[in-house]
Amino acid sequence: MEPFSRIIERVVIDREVIAARVAEVAESVADYYRDKPLTVVPVLAGAFMFTSDLIRALPLKMKIGLVGLSSYRGTATQPRELRVSFKLDGDISGRHVLVVDDILDTGATLERACHMVRQAGALEVRSLVLLSKKREPPAKTRPDWVGFEIEDEFVVGYGLDYNDHYRNLRDVVVLKDELYADGD
Ligand code: IMP
Ligand code: MG
Repeated sequence: MEPFSRIIERVVIDREVIAARVAEVAESVADYYRDKPLTVVPVLAGAFMFTSDLIRALPLKMKIGLVGLSSYRGTATQPRELRVSFKLDGDISGRHVLVVDDILDTGATLERACHMVRQAGALEVRSLVLLSKKREPPAKTRPDWVGFEIEDEFVVGYGLDYNDHYRNLRDVVVLKDELYADGD
């Protein structure tokens, strides 16, 4: 039984399509990092599920570093405040770092995460997002790998949250309108 069927408006990307794309992206990532000292840095919390699938599909020796960034969405007219909730721990000097996030919107989160990693002495920083929103104006950062381009709408599931809920949905979905009503 699908326990969430009553709250889902529309499935945007289902679990099988995600899995197939993760395998494809992993092949390309593995080709690039073969013989390089790799550290994968997921941006918590949204990237945790995607990253756990991705790294298990990478037949490479690697380290994992964690950073936590959260952006508080105010009203549409307010700029969002980006907060570091978890600082990168561990030594990444001289390493090739792959920053992984769940979704690219304005690009502010990815840019900040890459900046933190560069400041910490990485030899090279590349980035990968599962989803990228088609938006105007376009994000200021261009990730090196993108899983899927999606329309400019709010999605949850496969690690992505609304108000810290719904991360455990297996598919990327749009929720029914009334569920987004209870507060930014
Ligand atoms: P950006 O900083 O504007 O690029 O936004 C990216 C960050 O905001 C991601 O790390 C997500 O945590 C969050 N975010 C942006 N769009 C969505 C969405 O549609 N659903 C859930 N989280 C989102
Ligand atoms: Mg995030």
